[in-house]
Amino acid sequence: MSVAAPNQNTSPLARPVTTLWGVGPERASQLAQLEIRTIEDLMLHRPRRYEDRRHFRPIAELQLDEPTITHGTAVALGVKWFKQHTKSIFELVLDDGTARLHCRWWNLPFMEKYFAVGDEVVVFGKPGSVKPRTIDHPETEIIVTGEESLIHLNRITPIYPLTEGVAQRWIRALIWRTVQALKIQEPWPELPSGGSRLEGREAVLATRPPPLSSFLTRSQAIRLIHFPEALEDIERARRRLALDEFIELQVRVQRRRKNLQTKARAIPCGGDNHLMKPFLTRLGFKLTEAQTRVLREMRKDLSGAQPMRRLLQGDVGSGKTVVAACSALMALESGHNVALMAPTEILAEQHFINFTHWFESLGLAIQLRTSSHKQGEKAEGRGLRETTASSTHVESRPAAPATLFVGTHALIASGFTGDNLGLVIIDEQHKFGVAQREQLVRKGVYPHLLVMTATPIPRTLGLTLYGDLDLSTIDTLPPGRGRIQTFQRTANKLPEVWSFVRSKLGEGRQVYVVYPRVEETGENGIKAVTKEFDALRQALAPYRVGLVHGRLASKEKEATMSAFRSNTVQVLLATSLIEVGVDVPNATVMLIENAEQFGLAQLHQLRGRVGRGAHDSYCILVANAKTKEARQRLRVLEETTDGFRIAEADLKLRGPGELLGQEQSGAPRFRFGDLSEDLSLIEQARVIATQIV
Ligand code: ADP
Ligand code: MG
Repeated sequence: MSVAAPNQNTSPLARPVTTLWGVGPERASQLAQLEIRTIEDLMLHRPRRYEDRRHFRPIAELQLDEPTITHGTAVALGVKWFKQHTKSIFELVLDDGTARLHCRWWNLPFMEKYFAVGDEVVVFGKPGSVKPRTIDHPETEIIVTGEESLIHLNRITPIYPLTEGVAQRWIRALIWRTVQALKIQEPWPELPSGGSRLEGREAVLATRPPPLSSFLTRSQAIRLIHFPEALEDIERARRRLALDEFIELQVRVQRRRKNLQTKARAIPCGGDNHLMKPFLTRLGFKLTEAQTRVLREMRKDLSGAQPMRRLLQGDVGSGKTVVAACSALMALESGHNVALMAPTEILAEQHFINFTHWFESLGLAIQLRTSSHKQGEKAEGRGLRETTASSTHVESRPAAPATLFVGTHALIASGFTGDNLGLVIIDEQHKFGVAQREQLVRKGVYPHLLVMTATPIPRTLGLTLYGDLDLSTIDTLPPGRGRIQTFQRTANKLPEVWSFVRSKLGEGRQVYVVYPRVEETGENGIKAVTKEFDALRQALAPYRVGLVHGRLASKEKEATMSAFRSNTVQVLLATSLIEVGVDVPNATVMLIENAEQFGLAQLHQLRGRVGRGAHDSYCILVANAKTKEARQRLRVLEETTDGFRIAEADLKLRGPGELLGQEQSGAPRFRFGDLSEDLSLIEQARVIATQIV
């Protein structure tokens, strides 16, 4: 990520590395392998670790298994061959006056040509033996005494990620020279120190002392990240550079939002309640307080002057769909079309069924658009009437009937033009990229946007990724839900697990069984649904088992899902495809095998498929968790059903890309910023960015 300095074009940082002394075309292409193209890239090339070369441990004091940095003079070296010249050891013996150290490399005979007797060598590694003192495969660097020792020795020395042809000493010297020569300006304008121009939430955050001046300058930070004077300098420098990354992202996000606010005029979609009233009366349950509050927030947006940009966050099962339905009704009442996009065909189909059930009696048209329903599912065969809007006209109502389009990403690809589009709703936003979101919104002239997610987004991610969206949260579950109990079991307990499953089937409940793979891939012990299907069917007879996975034709998937929904099929064997959205309240057991293969947030989503009715529910995680960490990781799920805690844990363990499920999730990659640690930096960046914008 490059910092958008105000006059970047003329800034020396933007120049290609070939303008540096000693970098020709060949060097440039090597550096490009490290993603270094400009001088700024070089300046932001982050050391992967540091060696404190101010104090070397005398060889005589090396401890077994303790990573150490030491040095000595090469006194002997050579390659030993054995096993008919197929295996070799290259050995380098160093002496520092206190003792001798044997450095060994297996099967890398060419190492011999890098060293010569008399070389001064710095060594980093873990002694595997102290009698004789030996380190296998250490990291080494030959020291040339003289002027250069200023760069490579007697200091906290940076160790960089390298690539073929680039030596540690060479890149360190290049960075050293560049840091010395370069003048680096502060990238952001001078900011007023108070928070006076901020309003509301921002003002609260800004009551802290002015943040930017309490950091190193960017120029100091860049110097110290490479050549720290004290060990503490490394973290101070990292924080400043991370802050700049967060500011840059926030400035971009907030500019986009400001643009929208000044340019876009909103389509009035507040509605007049003429459909909402009968809808809520017939719904069969009362909205929770949290749902009502969110709807109030949305009605304000939908009747406001600027297009709504709102993220609705609510844990699995919190009842987001009905809130989406109400917001859709507001737009439909106002005579505008609504598009609802879901990440899987199964979910789109389920929404289509639900919304048809809810909306058909209100005289609304509903169309399904997925890749297998190209032209849109029309009235016939689904009890759907395509009626024109009823006679209670609102002023702005156009002649065509207001339609709800339900679909997958095929909605974007299809001929769907977004005529008269008032509101776009995106379910399970984390499964889509930011780009896809924008694509659909652009189909209309600034329609309102509601994105929903059940992945509780840790605040750090929320602020960076969705910084341009207002946030609504459904923080309570609907009443009358049974408990969900979560257990971890090892595979040898499977017979008991299955007899438990049968007992629940005997009580009339339904069951999900999830395996990680569609087809067997030869991985040891990892189950695949297609392989296990027949065995499972026989084992569970007379109960009926259905199968869904991503490689089935849509029609098949739909048929199975609808059989499961109507309880013609009692057991659904599936991949994690059913992770999002599926809602069958009579299903109370979620059995996941090879649970160690899934992320925590994903397991939480899967667990969210049960506990949707009044009966108690069970989530059973069968894991061959060999390591303690794996078991501990899964224990988080046994201990809590709080999606936020689980997502925080997942973010720490696996990083944002994994948490959000997809590369294209738009999760930004940072060189210095760390989304799982830097919440306070992200908040400070947000305040600063607001001042800048
Ligand atoms: P999610 O937030 O995971 O999308 P859903 O919208 O699928 O959750 O809702 C889960 C279940 O809760 C559905 O069966 C829905 O009908 C039901 N539900 C939603 N709101 C309420 C409510 N206020 N009272 C009772 N049940 C509700
Ligand atoms: Mg949902």
